[in-house]
Amino acid sequence: MREVYLYNSLSQLKEKLQPIEPGKVSIYVCGPTVYGDVHIGNMRPVVVFDVLRRYLTHLGYDVRFVSNYTDIDDKIIVKANELDTTEQELAARYIAAYEVNVKAVGSLIPHVTPKVTEHMDSIVAFIQTLLEKGFAYEVDGDVYFRVEKIKSYGELSHMDRDQLLAGASVEGNHGKELPFDFALWKKTTMGIRFPSSFGEGRPGWHTECVVMINDTFAHHRVDIHGGGFDLKFPHHENELAQHRAFHAQGLASIWMHNGFINLNDEKMSKSTGAIVLAKDFIAKYGGTLLRYVLLATHYRIPVNFNDEVLINAKNDLEKIRLAYVAAAIRLQRFDVSLDGQRDTDAFLQSLSDDLNTANALTEVHTVIKNLNKILRQNPMMMETLLNEFFTIKTMLTILGLDLHYPTLTPDDRALFADYDAAKARQDYVASDAIRQRLMERGLIV
Ligand SMILES: [Zn+2]
Repeated sequence: MREVYLYNSLSQLKEKLQPIEPGKVSIYVCGPTVYGDVHIGNMRPVVVFDVLRRYLTHLGYDVRFVSNYTDIDDKIIVKANELDTTEQELAARYIAAYEVNVKAVGSLIPHVTPKVTEHMDSIVAFIQTLLEKGFAYEVDGDVYFRVEKIKSYGELSHMDRDQLLAGASVEGNHGKELPFDFALWKKTTMGIRFPSSFGEGRPGWHTECVVMINDTFAHHRVDIHGGGFDLKFPHHENELAQHRAFHAQGLASIWMHNGFINLNDEKMSKSTGAIVLAKDFIAKYGGTLLRYVLLATHYRIPVNFNDEVLINAKNDLEKIRLAYVAAAIRLQRFDVSLDGQRDTDAFLQSLSDDLNTANALTEVHTVIKNLNKILRQNPMMMETLLNEFFTIKTMLTILGLDLHYPTLTPDDRALFADYDAAKARQDYVASDAIRQRLMERGLIV
């Protein structure tokens, strides 16, 4: 199998993917906390890790892709209370809305989408074990993780003890032993809450994810753990610390983090209103364009959204679509089957080099140039056209760029035959009229 190298945030090196089980790859991507509509920045991991999943599947790996829904959180409790509904109803509503966006950008729904509410027994048992092992302590119904017990703490965010202590919030520090200790369990008296031996409450976010990984994967760890760059610390650092405490091993072989999204060179921010909701962007420009913009930049580099970027992406995408559709129609007129695929080394090599979708798209445009050249040739080389068509089709499938081409009906074929006949007898009035009809049907682009 082709070797794949991915940048590991833990080692800060590109590492060869070496799955726990040969031929199988397990991927866990932290999903959204479902209390509102997501913005375009939240769609970046949805697109990036979907391409990773599609690419590894294409190479022949049996990929298991899991992404959770955090359906217990203070923000959910507050919002449900505001809207006079239950946390479950609110979560279900925003999960449905989120999945509409996931599909609109052409991403596959994960194989498993665990929810916190479905893993409460394991979460309580997990915390109980950490308490028994001395990795956690209870303070008045809250349970905290004893960070000092994990000597490697800071290994993922690459911060030392002093930096971590200085950066730790002292706010809400109710009897913590050290400021960087984090909550595994929070005592609550309002909203959704669960019973436990340490009192009624709800779990902390970092504990939810690590337990869902434990429960969902046979080896209690994954080959690849992904998420936005902002999750590296504290979320992933704390997931890893708990896992080391529980299993005395790492949680993931490779930790991948995608970069942010900027709007007109500024960070998106809810407080300044400089934010674009995914559903609004998709309604205006379409999900495929959003996907294209996100893939045109390497996933670890920030993506900047502005008018110029959008216009260029729209033009580039239209260039791809026009050549792809023209080739598909021409080939159907030759009566050849469009079922097939074809790999090119340069394209696969780009994706094997830390999922470089920007370089992969450059390869797409090279093939599009070839396609256009072949389409202009007279007589046209059908075999060459078919090869290039299979190449571009394979590339678009791996990148998840969903560009449809029409399937010719008998009626369409008759029209094309009339068109050819009119041209052959040099009846340009008739051929122009038929050409107009073919254009209206989207068959001449
Ligand atoms: Zn997580």
